[in-house]
Amino acid sequence: MAANTNIDAVSKDLEEVSLKTPNSTWSDYDCNIAEKQCRFCFGDEESDRKSGLPSSWMTPCKCDGSIKWVHERCFKQWLNLAPFPQQSACSTCGFIYRKSWKMKSLSEWSCPPLRITFWDIIEIGLDFYSTFKLFRGMWQMLEGKKAVFGQICYFIFWKTFIFTDRRILYYKSIAAAMATSFFEPQVRDVDDEKQK
Ligand SMILES: [Zn+2]
Ligand SMILES: [Zn+2]
Repeated sequence: MAANTNIDAVSKDLEEVSLKTPNSTWSDYDCNIAEKQCRFCFGDEESDRKSGLPSSWMTPCKCDGSIKWVHERCFKQWLNLAPFPQQSACSTCGFIYRKSWKMKSLSEWSCPPLRITFWDIIEIGLDFYSTFKLFRGMWQMLEGKKAVFGQICYFIFWKTFIFTDRRILYYKSIAAAMATSFFEPQVRDVDDEKQK
């Protein structure tokens, strides 16, 4: 009889535990997963509430886990300071940001924020020189002054080392940086795109 009572008590305990589990433990767990933390300032929704800052969040790329979320304000600030290639694509997942451009009002127009280093200038110079050399060579080939085979070799060299995807992205980001003088880039949220 005593043993039976014990079993009853244990099964009652178990029932209570199983009833409690979905309500307390699992919902806490879900909360932790859903809790957003900013990749840049490490702030979360709780710290936003405390500081009274606007809590607007976005996922600009396909990164997941702890680096998925960023504050809109932190991302914008970072985008203004980031090196050119990182302004167009995420350096972690490689996702090219989806941007839309909004014209700034005349009073907000500014000088292009170009931060070009000495090595950038050398690289740009080399790009322009070798591209100029390619077109001059092509012209000379048409005039019969240069061998076709040599020009083809030079074209392959140019395509492999000069006109690379990395360099194209670099020039695109310079163009984008210049455009920020007159237009405001707005990076669209990856999750918004999925819902559409
Ligand atoms: Zn932040
Ligand atoms: Zn990413």
